[in-house]
Amino acid sequence: MADTTTSVPPSRSRDLDKLLLRPGNLVGPRFEPGTELRDDLQTFAKVLVVGAGGLGCELLKDLALSGFKNLEVIDMDRIEVTNLNRQFLFRLEDVGKPKAEVAAKRVMERISGVHIVPHFCRIEDKDIDFYNDFSIIALGLDSVEARSYINTVACSFLEYDSDDTPREETIKPMVDGGTEGFKGHARVILPGITPCFECTIWLFPPQVKFPLCTLAETPRTAAHCIEYAHLIKWDEVHHGEPFDPDNPEHMKWVYNEAVKRAELFGIPGVTYSFTQGVVKNIIPAIASTNAIISAACALETLKIATECSKTLSNYLTYNGSEGLHTKVAEFERDKECLVCGPGIRIELDPSITLQKFMDLLEEHPKLRLSKASITHRGKNLYMQAPPVLEEMTRSNLSLSLFNLMGKLPNDVVHVNGITSKNDQKTTCLRKLRVVFKGVDGVTDMDTAGGA
Ligand SMILES: [Zn+2]
Repeated sequence: MADTTTSVPPSRSRDLDKLLLRPGNLVGPRFEPGTELRDDLQTFAKVLVVGAGGLGCELLKDLALSGFKNLEVIDMDRIEVTNLNRQFLFRLEDVGKPKAEVAAKRVMERISGVHIVPHFCRIEDKDIDFYNDFSIIALGLDSVEARSYINTVACSFLEYDSDDTPREETIKPMVDGGTEGFKGHARVILPGITPCFECTIWLFPPQVKFPLCTLAETPRTAAHCIEYAHLIKWDEVHHGEPFDPDNPEHMKWVYNEAVKRAELFGIPGVTYSFTQGVVKNIIPAIASTNAIISAACALETLKIATECSKTLSNYLTYNGSEGLHTKVAEFERDKECLVCGPGIRIELDPSITLQKFMDLLEEHPKLRLSKASITHRGKNLYMQAPPVLEEMTRSNLSLSLFNLMGKLPNDVVHVNGITSKNDQKTTCLRKLRVVFKGVDGVTDMDTAGGA
């Protein structure tokens, strides 16, 4: 018989305690189990959740239940009726209100001790320092552009030592989740160590269209039949009248043709709503996929914050469309990556002018870069175009590059120009790490700050 007088009420941190209060075989090198670690997680770890949609709602809830107490969330959208089936923090009366604000409020109401600061704005509206304030950035986004932007920001904090090793204290970890229907991914991005978003941008290929010959000759799926009716049959019959996806008559016609086609080839699965989905390229958002991917992301965030286990290395894919399949692949960094790499190192004499620097870029055997436009920390040093900018920056050409770069002993410049490889001329963007010879790093910092 259990002695009820001495039993302890179940604690919300019970499961967390199992991870943080006990030693383990898969822990990181600095893992020290104990209540101090749990307290540190609650006091010092500060996580930004980017996006308060399907994934963002899940992420906020999961992180709050995983022991994180300092959270912020940023999202520019307002709640719509169609969000309510899966963005479970929102109610009918919330429609029209900012997602970030309602999501933060709901999680705080349900989970005591958690503090969530909402930001109802575009991610670009915050200055870079805002992002530097977080220990970890968790991404619950649905666009490649937004991911790319946050990735660039997080990688911009990364600094390298003179031997091209990333400085650990400048690494801003990111955990990225993404879902599309029954498929999803979760990944850990440690800039300088694991591939950044830009290193593996090829993972997001442009929308693949079915080859027309497949549609015309060998349809195998319901989508093939629908696209046949939509892309081939419509034009054959309607002679130049454009197909309007918002016209129900047009959609009905495509649906009927797709059904005929599917019957001819014995293919099941053509329905009216699926026809709409294929033609309008609608990908259904599935609550369970968001929940699974978010759980994986929250766990990785906890692992990064506490080292209670090794993080996944480095890209998990989940596919729940036919049965369930999940695996982790280790992608490699692109050593030449412009966003997370150290850049090509160039040693220069501090007396060199901008013009002379540009001449050097043309002669440099690795670069062979002509018609260069040069920027330093977002400031245009010289621009080839448009004419008005060229005129504004022309006077810099005769000035010392060292002075133009704020007298920093070494720093990164971005160069846009034309390079020729095997007699082919292509435009390119290069990240260069300029190091000035014989300049002491310490004494010039004040001048740099004031310049
Ligand atoms: Zn990269």
